[in-house]
Amino acid sequence: MSAEDREKRYRSLRLLYYPLRSGSPAAPPHARARHYRTDYPASPVPTPDAAAMPPPLGHDDSCLRAPLIPATPPLPPRATARLHPLPLLVGALFAAYYHLLVEPAPSYYQSLFLSLGSNDTAAAHLRALTVRPHLAGTEANALAADHVVSTLSSLSFPTRVTPYEVLLSYPVRRSLSLSAPGRDTTAFALVQDTYPGDPYAAASAEVVPTFLAYAASGSAATEVVYANYGRTEDYAYLASRGVNVTGKVALARYGKVYRGDIVKNARDAGAAAAVIFTDPKDYTPGKAFPDGPWMPPTGVQVGSTFKGVGDPTTPMWASSEGCERVSVAEAMATDDMPGIPALPVSGRDGEEILRLVGGDVAPEDWQGGEGAPVYHLGPGPAVLNLSYTGNETLATIQNVISVIEGKEEPDRYVILGNHRDAWTFGAADPNSGTAALLELAERLSKLQTKGWRPRRTIILCNWDAEEYGLIGSTEWVEENRAMLTSRTVAYLNVDVGVSGSGLDASATPQLDELLKQASKKVQNPDNGTESLYDMWMASDGSLIGRLGGGGSDYSAFVQHIGIPSVQMSIWSEYAVYHSVYDDFTWMEKYGDPMFRRHVAVASIWGLVALGLSDEEILPFNYSSYVTELENGAVDINKRVLGMPVSLSPIHKSIKQLNRAVLKVDSELQALQTWKFWSPWRNNPLRVRDLNDRLMMTERAFTEREGLSGRPWYKHMIYGPSLYNDYGAEAYPGVDDAIQTAKKANTSESWQSVQHEIHRVARVISQSASVLSGGFS
Ligand SMILES: [Zn+2]
Repeated sequence: MSAEDREKRYRSLRLLYYPLRSGSPAAPPHARARHYRTDYPASPVPTPDAAAMPPPLGHDDSCLRAPLIPATPPLPPRATARLHPLPLLVGALFAAYYHLLVEPAPSYYQSLFLSLGSNDTAAAHLRALTVRPHLAGTEANALAADHVVSTLSSLSFPTRVTPYEVLLSYPVRRSLSLSAPGRDTTAFALVQDTYPGDPYAAASAEVVPTFLAYAASGSAATEVVYANYGRTEDYAYLASRGVNVTGKVALARYGKVYRGDIVKNARDAGAAAAVIFTDPKDYTPGKAFPDGPWMPPTGVQVGSTFKGVGDPTTPMWASSEGCERVSVAEAMATDDMPGIPALPVSGRDGEEILRLVGGDVAPEDWQGGEGAPVYHLGPGPAVLNLSYTGNETLATIQNVISVIEGKEEPDRYVILGNHRDAWTFGAADPNSGTAALLELAERLSKLQTKGWRPRRTIILCNWDAEEYGLIGSTEWVEENRAMLTSRTVAYLNVDVGVSGSGLDASATPQLDELLKQASKKVQNPDNGTESLYDMWMASDGSLIGRLGGGGSDYSAFVQHIGIPSVQMSIWSEYAVYHSVYDDFTWMEKYGDPMFRRHVAVASIWGLVALGLSDEEILPFNYSSYVTELENGAVDINKRVLGMPVSLSPIHKSIKQLNRAVLKVDSELQALQTWKFWSPWRNNPLRVRDLNDRLMMTERAFTEREGLSGRPWYKHMIYGPSLYNDYGAEAYPGVDDAIQTAKKANTSESWQSVQHEIHRVARVISQSASVLSGGFS
């Protein structure tokens, strides 16, 4: 029974009154696909307007403990058994009937959950988690895991650590020097400076030296070529200008594509080594930290250059104890590894190198910002002498898994996940999300003291080694694949919980409506008169992104096993990403001075989770999926105009899916009508049948063989495209085939586009059968 029906019935029977849920909103603007990625170029993080904000965090400030959402009415009195002169049987039946009616609706606990938000709690967890840098595989990260375990255990949630041995990468020796004819050699320090009064100066000594994980060990001493953002089109431009990259050091700047692709593109262009710098034009357009939110001159973005997913020594299977493994040498030799030495450098070092690069002047959109030297293409006369030795080694990582068992359907899982490991202190990436997870868990524990038990099991996951290649979550999904595939309702990911002030959300489409409804119930943390939804709509109008790209721990859930998923963040692109300056001070000064954004992200995360764990019928709406699939097909159609390719198999299968959606709608209506007139519960087997179909429909979008040439990616609708780092809008297999056919332009290549279209149509037909529950 839906909460709304329950409420209607309360009113009709005049037994009780609960606040009604807000009415149905107007249809939102059409969702436009957008992809989550952590390699954005920077844009300003707005400084909070002091007048509009509540007073700063402090322990004696009672207003901070005031609920962020107006308090909900107290729990309605539960029926108390009274002795009655009527016969015992009638009394018992009446009590059972009454009990059913007064059991609080899911919406009651959702309102209560919202009222329990605590920015004090979120701030305290963030401070504790970010005391030391905590890279995956280090003692400090094990201590951070202890904090998560002890917090969740203290809330009486059964909690365990799931360890894996996986291939991680650490720097051993790095050196980089710059020379040019007639000039002294400059040896770069490759150190990120602390500032006077930096409370984290001492702890900074523990930060891993700046490096690119999994870069090949080796050296190069050769001329420099400037390659702009290091995209394939940038190398194509260099070739068109006659600039030969072969055997040179490619110098590229961060901001447009994943750093693994920057290094791979350099390698594919023939470069002997790659250097990536943080251009002040993109990362320091205003005051640098600590005087402003932007990247300081010596700040360096470190990170992984592995393009695969999960432990490189256990491709396609889990790194469980005693498991089969490929050798480290084999793992390092795959095409997903960068294969050449590479180092990241600061904006200051990047500009110093570019001052000595000659050759033709680079185009306008390749240039730096104000005060930067004029950028030339090279090669030379600047020569870089780069030497790098890495240590690729098996190290222990620790996922933390905590379980709140469901009361009625313990074998159905709603999974919440966030990673814990960080390149440095990780205040924004990722521990703003970890702090939100723990704050959310504390609220759930308080709900339990008010009588709440979830209908379905809630699993809280804190992943390790995400930064190296989504390793912790991927190994866990691979190890538990069969269980998760048959039992998981949804996966809800938060990586960076807070880095600014806008809501960024991506989802598989059946969750769009739930996400929107939840955002309407959460207050905008920066403006008490509007909801997150209002703020979301007022921002850039691109509503809900899709989960086709890599980028975070949802990847294994969606792209490998087809679990409906969501990714959420209170986000602005932020400049200190993956640098030593991503610490508590940055967060307190610029990211979230009141920690209200942390509370808001925990609120929307928890509301979506409670909707999925507690509603009798799963709040999935597949009509959004039909719209998205149709839009994807229209998009593909535009790209194959005039070619011997037909989209009709896809259109036909989408029609089948649409018929299944209509059938489910009428089933739902019938259940609700029955429920309105009957005091008894819906037939639980009928409810279970409908819920299973809603849950398993997403699974049917996966295909056993996976994407052509990339068998780990099983999802035929959402996955990374070979030619598009941010993931195809939809249909990655078709996208790849079109790109290949456009280059080859042979009848065979267009036939493979048609083949990929048929594959997509087949999974959509399968999903239609699952949703409707009928076979041929
Ligand atoms: Zn992250």
